[in-house]
Parts: sequence; C-alpha cells; structure tokens
Amino acid sequence: DATAATTEPLVIMGAGLVGSLLSLYLVRRGHPVHLYERLADPRRAGLLEGRSINLALSDRGWRGLAGVGVTDDIQKVGIPMYRRVMHDQQGQLTQQPYGQEGQAIFSVSRDSLNRTLLDLVEAKPEAQITFGQKLTQLDLPGRRLHLRDVASGQEYDVGYQRLFGVDGAFSAVRGAMQRLDRADYSQQYLEYGYKELTIVAGPGGAWQLEKNALHIWPRGNYLMIALPNLDGSFNATLFFPYEGPLSFESLRTPDEVEHFFADVFPDAAPLMPNLDTEFFAHPTGSLVTIRCWPWSYQDTVLLLGDAAHAIVPFYGQGMNAGFEDCTVLDRLLNEIGETDWTRVMDEFERLRKPNTDAMAELALYNFVEMRDRVADPRFLLQKRIESKIAAQYPGRWVPLYSRVTFSPDTPYAEAWAAGQRQEAIMAQLMPHIQAEADYEKPEVQALVKEQLAEGDAQ
Ligand code: FAD
Repeated sequence: DATAATTEPLVIMGAGLVGSLLSLYLVRRGHPVHLYERLADPRRAGLLEGRSINLALSDRGWRGLAGVGVTDDIQKVGIPMYRRVMHDQQGQLTQQPYGQEGQAIFSVSRDSLNRTLLDLVEAKPEAQITFGQKLTQLDLPGRRLHLRDVASGQEYDVGYQRLFGVDGAFSAVRGAMQRLDRADYSQQYLEYGYKELTIVAGPGGAWQLEKNALHIWPRGNYLMIALPNLDGSFNATLFFPYEGPLSFESLRTPDEVEHFFADVFPDAAPLMPNLDTEFFAHPTGSLVTIRCWPWSYQDTVLLLGDAAHAIVPFYGQGMNAGFEDCTVLDRLLNEIGETDWTRVMDEFERLRKPNTDAMAELALYNFVEMRDRVADPRFLLQKRIESKIAAQYPGRWVPLYSRVTFSPDTPYAEAWAAGQRQEAIMAQLMPHIQAEADYEKPEVQALVKEQLAEGDAQ
C-alpha cells in the first residue's frame, strides 16, 4: 500500500545532537519521524551528576542549524571565542586569533543545545520521541528493531521502512552492519584520557579568565583547555596520558593532584577550588577514532554522525561534521529526489567518507599542535607570517584552521590537502625568517611568489 509506505515514520535511532537535527530536516521534508533514545529525557532527568559540558560550534555546524532555521535559539546560548590564549608554566599569556577580525567559534553547552533541539523536534506534530528505549538487536534483512524499555526491562520488536543510525560512537545500528560480509571497521584509542574539571566564576558571576577565548595550557606531552560558560565559569578539560611517570595512573591522592596543578597550571589552579573532589569523582573519558564502511544497508539503513565517523575532539569538529552530514543529506534529497534512496545513500557515502576520513586525520594532527606546537615561539611566528601571506594574497592563501573551521564550502579533504601544500611552502620559507619583519625581505617575497606560482601550476 503506497500510502502506508509514505506515511510510515522514518525511524531515527538516537536523539543526540545529530539525531535531533536530522529529525528536523526530515520533518521539514514532510516525513513523520519516530526517534528512539536509550537515555531518559534530559529535560526531565536533569544534568548527569550536575555537570555541564560545552562544545565549540563553528561554521559547518551553524550551516546545519541554519538549514532548519534554528540559529537564533542557539546564538542566545553561545559565547564567541575569537582567539586561542596560551598559558605557559609561568602564567604568561600569548594569543593567536582563530580567523580574521570578527570570526569566532562558539562555546555552547552540550546540554542546552540538545534540549533546544529536542524542544524544537517535539514541537512538530509529525515527530515522536520515545526515551528510555535501547536498541539491542537489529534484523537488517527483516527490517525489525529489537528494543528494550530500560525502566521495565520489557523487550519488543518494531518494524521499519527506513532507519537512520545516529546512535553515536558505539552505535548498535553499526554493530549489526559490522557483522555483514565485506564490512570494514576500525577503532583506535589514544593513550590519553580526558578529565572534565571546573574553573569557577568570580564574584557576581565574573569570568576569571578572558571570556571570549579558548584557553590552552600546552605542556608538550599533555594539555588542559578551557571554554567559557554563560554563568562565568569555564569547563576545563585535562588531556593526559593514562599511564607513565606523569599520568592519571601517577596521580593517586588529592595532595598529588593539587601539587601537580599548582606546579604546571599555576594560574588556573587557584581558580579550581573543587579540583581534588572533581578529579576523583569525574570519570576519565577515552579518546577514539572510529572508521567504518559501508555506511548504508541497501536503501533501508544509513549511518550519520559519530556512528559513521567518531573522531578525537582536538579540532572541535565532531558535532560540526555530524551537522554537516545533515546538510549534505538534505541537499542530495533535493537533487536526486526521494524516489531513489539507493542513489541518495550511495552518493552520501561517496561524498562524505573521504571528507570525514580527512577530518579524522586533521583532529589527530591538531592534538600535537594544541599540546605542543602552540607553545613554540617559532610556530606562533610562522602563524603570523601566514596571516601576512593571506593578507597579501587574498583568496590564494587561506590558513588551514580557517579552511576547516570558517569555510563550509570547502570539503574537509580539500582543506587538508591544501593545508599540507601550504605547510610544505612554510617549511621552505621559515629558515629565512627570524622575526616578523623578515617577511619584507626581497628574497622572502620572491620565494613566496615563486611557491604560490608553483602551487597554481600544479
Ligand atoms: P551522540 O551525541 O553520541 O548521540 C548518540 C545518541 O544515541 C545518544 O543520545 C545515545 O544515548 C543514543 N544511543 C546510543 N546507543 C543507543 C542504543 N543502543 N539505543 C538507543 N539509543 C542509543 N564536537 C564538536 O563539534 N565540537 C567540540 O568542541 C567537541 N568537543 C568534544 C569534546 C569531547 C571530550 C568529546 C568526547 C567529543 C567532542 N565533540 C565535539 C564531538 C561531539 O561530542 C560528537 O561528535 C557529537 O556528540 C556526535 O553526535 P551524535 O548525535 O552523532 O552522537
């Protein structure tokens, strides 16, 4: 029955960031949707352990939100961060703008973003969200979900016509697809974990560090970062080895933790009065890159977001890439039409896979930049020289960070390739440069011109 098929809801597994945005897109296209989510409704359950965690939202994410007209709701709860501020071990600060004047990435609370999106989904009569339902098995050829009601333990089956697996890095939908013939899958953990900590607000809710910046304490082998919250506090995250002489394993007592922080983060430690409690109460999170292929099963199942491509967080792009998935899928549905889902899904995978693979590499690359290179004066000098080249050759030299973060028309794979070409040029140039003024030297100017011309010729 054709009518039944078109009115049967599309099933979205996972009501996280990407699942809720995807639902808004599909509803806007005229589809009823049914979302299933393992966790309880975050708007009723309250914050997990009272913690709020923030994320950096940038242009690809904004574009995803704009496609369903929800940027205003999010803008209200975002704080623009125009630069990185690096804190050295003596508490001295250096800074590096993220982009051009006025360009920023935004600190938003994961929880308020998720709640806002869920409110918007729930306001649509065509959308239904059922919380507390865990997918435990999936019959791909039979198109049946096996779900468990988490509260009662009751298990039941639901059929579907089309299923979107947006159930995150440890996706159960992907789990079923992995067992099929010729399914590729890899997961790689870093030897680092992360711990979320709090830099408290000052009197009257004042920010005790510069508000409109992302703060970094680069320490070579490890780092701490902090992003601002609306209430004057910052969420700090320590990225630290699991094992070794300076590691999570080596810090065993509150005393050891306090000494370590006072020693290596001397300007932040006094702003972290709950440090020793938080350090032991908060879990140590792991950091994983997950790649898989294919992302679809026939024309009935498609993976998006972390379920298809989980990456480490050092470029602040995981959610942004997931939101971009929604934009790309919507565009393909416009271009190809909804009568040929096989082509839509094939094209989606073909377009997205090289880009999310490149993003995974970029995220690993940026780990070294953030924990180590940003502390090197030569690296910061190189970045200032790059801005000069960008200003002198507008459009022909776009810094890698800007291509990834502020250029949503540039696919990630193109950004990464161009970034590597520019890095090779800088490697030629930097031996001639000891100070910013050296950029004006005729031999440097000639070299820049020559290198750019070579790049154009390629
Ligand atoms: P998720 O947000 O994981 O949502 C998946 C949902 O599916 C969850 O609600 C889950 O409960 C549900 N689910 C899972 N299994 C089942 C099941 N069996 N049945 C039913 N439901 C299920 N990205 C950025 O863009 N910027 C950042 O600054 C940034 N910082 C980060 C910092 C850290 C420390 C980490 C770990 C990640 C960061 N990310 C960042 C990445 C970002 O969090 C993810 O990319 C994003 O959450 C992916 O969204 P998603 O909806 O695909 O998955």
